[in-house]
Amino acid sequence: MSGPALLGLMQEQPLLISSLIVFAERHHGDGEIVSRRVEGDIHRTSWAEIARRSRQVANALDAAGVAPSGRVGTIAWNGYRHLELYYGVSGAGRVLHTLNPRLHPDQVAWIINHAEDDVLCFDLSFLPLVQAVHARCPSVRQWIALCDADRLPQDSGIPGLLSYEAWIDACSDRYDWPVFDENTASSMCYTSGTTGNPKAALYSHRSTVLHAYAAALPDAMGISSCDSVLPVVPMFHVNAWGIPYAGALTGCKLVFPGPALDGKSVHDLIEGEGVTFAAGVPTVWQMLLAHMEAGGLRFTALNRTVIGGAACPPSMLRAFRERYGVEVLHGWGMTEMSPLGTVCTLKKKHLAWPAEQQLAVLQKQGRALFGVQMKIVGEQGEDLPWDGKACGDLLVRGPWIVREYFKGEGGNPLVRDADGAGWFPTGDVAAIDADGYLQITDRSKDVIKSGGEWISSIDIENIAVAHPAVAMAACIGVSHPKWDERPIIAVVVRPGAQLAKEELLDFYRGKTVAKWQVPDDVVFVESIPLGATGKMLKTGLREQLRDYRLPDVTAATTTNG
Ligand code: ADP
Repeated sequence: MSGPALLGLMQEQPLLISSLIVFAERHHGDGEIVSRRVEGDIHRTSWAEIARRSRQVANALDAAGVAPSGRVGTIAWNGYRHLELYYGVSGAGRVLHTLNPRLHPDQVAWIINHAEDDVLCFDLSFLPLVQAVHARCPSVRQWIALCDADRLPQDSGIPGLLSYEAWIDACSDRYDWPVFDENTASSMCYTSGTTGNPKAALYSHRSTVLHAYAAALPDAMGISSCDSVLPVVPMFHVNAWGIPYAGALTGCKLVFPGPALDGKSVHDLIEGEGVTFAAGVPTVWQMLLAHMEAGGLRFTALNRTVIGGAACPPSMLRAFRERYGVEVLHGWGMTEMSPLGTVCTLKKKHLAWPAEQQLAVLQKQGRALFGVQMKIVGEQGEDLPWDGKACGDLLVRGPWIVREYFKGEGGNPLVRDADGAGWFPTGDVAAIDADGYLQITDRSKDVIKSGGEWISSIDIENIAVAHPAVAMAACIGVSHPKWDERPIIAVVVRPGAQLAKEELLDFYRGKTVAKWQVPDDVVFVESIPLGATGKMLKTGLREQLRDYRLPDVTAATTTNG
């Protein structure tokens, strides 16, 4: 191309998070925001009130002298005050740093120091955690308890502790949201550390707004102003999959579960608030389904749920779809991707297919959202075909995917292709079919290699959890002198159920798994360690089973092939 490009004549307006809350107040100010509070009651407010109070937050930050791009940490459940901080902090040009309270206090302190949080706001349920770490966090100048002034704990031992309500009450609700570069940092989230030291993804206003647009699309979460949306997925990890932003953009009702994530509380909220769409990780839905089954309960309005963060077992998909008439949208993503990468919805041609064939499609992790490019590569970095069979390392690129981590931690993570374009290596192993549906078979460090062939631990686990006596199952590889590794399956049996090893191994017969992929042994365990985001921690399980030896490695009868 020669000569200067002819520039478009459209208005220039940066994509800022404040524009979402301005839009929400103007266009659906009366839209409801319902929260179960730490106090136990149900609180009701509106988008207009959230907007008003987020302006008070912005003024409070100015008054506290928090510098532009200064970090404001939160240790909080899903609720309206947390939502106000989402908008007040980022809108005012500061960085919202959501912390995962399920991490060990030493990790929490490490993360606060690494992020250099200036202010830290926390729900009262996390007072003991804050008491354990505050003295080790010199950067934090102000600790704020998310409560009314009269509930502020006396003698907390935290110097200068303020109640959130007193903090913002002192401030005007008039505030002119500043206009700045859309690439300015807006929020940050540390990876939960299942893969080494926590590293932070630092999101920008632009990445967040683009992600919210894409997340709300019909073939993604399909959120509209008629929906009542329950994010069970926490606001403290990857911005509750972008729902707090997509909510403002669409004007849906938002329903926040607070600290009560058990099956009964979640079901009560779904029914009480006419929830049409809910989002969560499989472990949370397992509790909900168990509660529904035990009580013979139904859903009145719930029509779809997005399940992700870990593979959704086909038995769960089937239960939602066939027993309760709820469509499951299987989604895949990661902290480094804001987090949405793919969501599984059917294409038009699938609608005429028999239910069983549709299920086979819906079990996959789905198709990429516009904005996410993906590819799978082999051991030499060569592109692999999209034929649904070839499995390789999954790489992604796009405007809401990290380029590098906060403070350059971990060096440059990107892999360059022949054209010099940088791709983020997800650490997942996957196949992609000709229709563009992604299927994750494993995390690369969880792959089991037996006699040079890969065994998908997800496939092995999915079959086990379809057995009625199995509550949870995790497949790991253990070393074997001949095959290198062989799979075993660790199983938690449902309360009151009986299960023999042979019965579970028999259950693999006739399933879509080759004979040599069937686990060599079943290990019954009390529980499987869960990570801070509710996912099975295989590192923890391997540690727990470190003295385990295969029953009889020399006489192993399994053959590869
Ligand atoms: P971390 O546990 O590293 O903090 P994230 O919470 O960002 O990470 O989780 C990202 C990882 O979770 C993905 O790389 C993938 O391994 C796994 N994951 C997320 N969704 C799915 C899914 N639907 N199926 C299988 N694995 C998934």
